[in-house]
Amino acid sequence: MLSAVTPMPFTGAGLDRATDDRRRDPDWLAAQRAHPRARAVVADPSGLALDGDRLKLTPYRGEEPALLLGLDADGPLFAVDAGPPPGPPPAAILGVDALREAGARLAPAEGGLLAYVAALVNWHRRHPRCACCGAATTITEGGLLRICPACDAEHHPRTDPVVITLVIDGTERVLLGRNVRWPARRYSALAGFVEPGESLEEAVAREVAEESGIEVGAMRYAASQPWPFPASLMLGFFADYRAGEPRPLEGEIEDVRWYSRADILAAIHEDPGAPLDVPPRFAIARHLIDTWAGVTAGPAA
Ligand SMILES: [Zn+2]
Repeated sequence: MLSAVTPMPFTGAGLDRATDDRRRDPDWLAAQRAHPRARAVVADPSGLALDGDRLKLTPYRGEEPALLLGLDADGPLFAVDAGPPPGPPPAAILGVDALREAGARLAPAEGGLLAYVAALVNWHRRHPRCACCGAATTITEGGLLRICPACDAEHHPRTDPVVITLVIDGTERVLLGRNVRWPARRYSALAGFVEPGESLEEAVAREVAEESGIEVGAMRYAASQPWPFPASLMLGFFADYRAGEPRPLEGEIEDVRWYSRADILAAIHEDPGAPLDVPPRFAIARHLIDTWAGVTAGPAA
């Protein structure tokens, strides 16, 4: 039985998000903004500031717009957007490079908060206007809703589902692909966006077939991971090999091939003779690979 059991990096924010009637009560929100122990995570043009291995928290002094993340044991916690870096919009709060650095430095329990702040601030930066009529929208419910004053449309923060699949041929070999943009020797599980009108199972089968020519049979959900760069939720699956010979079929996938258990273990243990590199430990792809190989994932690195 393959089941992912170790904590997933970028989860575990542990806040009371107050996603009930409290957020819809302006008086309650005003009381949170005026709370003497209210704190904020500030996103400025350089990104998110760290304080050692934690996100830096500063006293909240009523800055607008007030994005209420939720409540922890010390009181309300806000995200404040001090603005994106200069350049063409929309600028994401964190790119993958910054993510890699933050993932290496942050305490594991901080990853969920980082993902929450990044996803929410990124969405507000990229969605200032109504998708229906183009009017400027207004933040409400402490930042978990934007409403259009012109046409009354409601816009909720987006989360875009992405399926990521480790195709396995029993315990002997796994199918991995290589994107042209990745570091040399890096191979990983196959991934793609879920399309409109498609189930997760259909998306898994389609993406694997499109990227590798492989037909899969039974599949099992393993784990999920927020990937807010800018707005994805990674949904991890194991899928059983059924038929076909792997060959790269999509432009961005330059190679796709089977790797043996010995190959994978050598890569996990960073043996000099390993024929590939596997993804870093903070990525759900690595979690799937480690789970298949029977290796417990270590702390995010
Ligand atoms: Zn509108």
